[in-house]
Order: sequence, then C-alpha cells, then structure tokens
Amino acid sequence: MDISDIYEKFDRIGCLTFATVDNGIPQTRIAHLFAHDHEGLYFRTMITKPFYEQLKKTAEVSICGMYPHTAVSHNEEGMPCFAPGYTIRATGAVRELSFETLKEKAAADELFMLGVKDIERYPAMTTFCLYRAWGEVYDFDYEMEHRPHKVLRTGFSFGGMRIPFRGVRITETCSACGKCLERCSFKAIYQEDERYVIDHSKCDVCGDCYTVCPAKAVEIVIESIPE
Ligand code: SF4
Ligand code: SF4
Repeated sequence: MDISDIYEKFDRIGCLTFATVDNGIPQTRIAHLFAHDHEGLYFRTMITKPFYEQLKKTAEVSICGMYPHTAVSHNEEGMPCFAPGYTIRATGAVRELSFETLKEKAAADELFMLGVKDIERYPAMTTFCLYRAWGEVYDFDYEMEHRPHKVLRTGFSFGGMRIPFRGVRITETCSACGKCLERCSFKAIYQEDERYVIDHSKCDVCGDCYTVCPAKAVEIVIESIPE
C-alpha cells in the first residue's frame, strides 16, 4: 500500500480518533485527514488546543478508525456481531508545516486548498504532516460471508519506518499434534510437510493456539515500536 491507498482508506471513514500522550497520560480526540502527497498525510488543529501542545512536545501521533459501521449488534445468544468492514491505524512521527508551505502545496494540488481556506478563516489553525509511520488495515468478515477466513491483515509503512512484528509464532518445539489447527477459528494455521505454520495475514492473535498447545510451542512476540 502506498500513501495514497492509505489516505483513501482513512478518508472513506472521515472522522478518526487521534491519540497523543500528555505527560505520560493517553489523550484522544476526533479529527480527520484532509490531504496527502508523497511526503505523508495531513491534518489540522489550532495552536490554542492541548492537541497542538502534545504534538509539538512529542512529535508523535496514532490514528485509527473503522468502516463502515461502528455500532455493535447482538445475536440471539447475546454475543456481539459486526458487519463486514475494516479498521485502519497508523502510528508515527509528525512535523508542523508553515502556512507558506501549505500554500505552495495548494498551488500544486487542489486537495490542500481546504487547509488554506480554513486557516484564512481561523488564523489560529495550523497543519501537521504525518511523514513517517507504520500501521495496518484489518479487514474483517467474521461470519465468513464472502471468503473462507475471518480476517485479512495488511501492514504498511512509509517514510522509512519498519513494521514491527507483534503476534504469535510456532517454534521448533512443535510436536505436530495438529491441535492448534483444529482450534483456530480464523483458519490461519496450515500444515506444511511435518510443520505447522501461522499465516499472519489471517491471524487475529486470539491466543487459542497458545492456550491449547500441549508442547508450549507457541510463543508471543511483541517487537518494540520502531524509533
Ligand atoms: S498445538 Fe502445539 S505442538 Fe500441536 S501442532 Fe500446534 S504448535 Fe505444534
Ligand atoms: S492466535 Fe488465534 S487466530 Fe492466530 S493462529 Fe492462533 S488460534 Fe489462529
């Protein structure tokens, strides 16, 4: 996925949750992305808001959203149901743009004109670019209405950031009993010769294979978020 694909997924949602950290305490608010180019994804806030202060102090943000439905319904057994859709999240580094730079971008790309007009109306407004990030699109169809597996996960990164691995792996101590394959309702485990392997694009990291494995061959791996 390139930046334009990522923007399109976020833009289809519209209102997104933006998370920052304020003195070690997580803070969220709703905002939206209004433009993209080869340098990154763009959003606005006012210099009078805590959001601005947090962005300036940490130079980091995390964004997520869900499409097309956010409501949760329940089936006859009272269990939650979700219509097919996707979530998307991106985490990374931001920098502020001067109004002059925004106007230069608007001269080359109409998409940025919204930002220019908004700042002309609200002079305390300013623009940030998410220029380096990693994230994921998590496409779900839990009832398997349209395909034979529940999720399809697509990682992405831009600006030179690496995607950290965060999930479960089957190790060499696997005795090939097959219990994890039987148990995995996400259809993410397959057999390859004598080995059992997890397809991470289909794995929800639900932990069923971890709890069922008699050989303790499933390990949890949470790589650090890249600097
Ligand atoms: S349950 Fe454990 S030992 Fe059995 S196949 Fe899966 S990973 Fe291997
Ligand atoms: S963590 Fe859950 S979804 Fe992933 S392979 Fe194990 S059982 Fe399947």
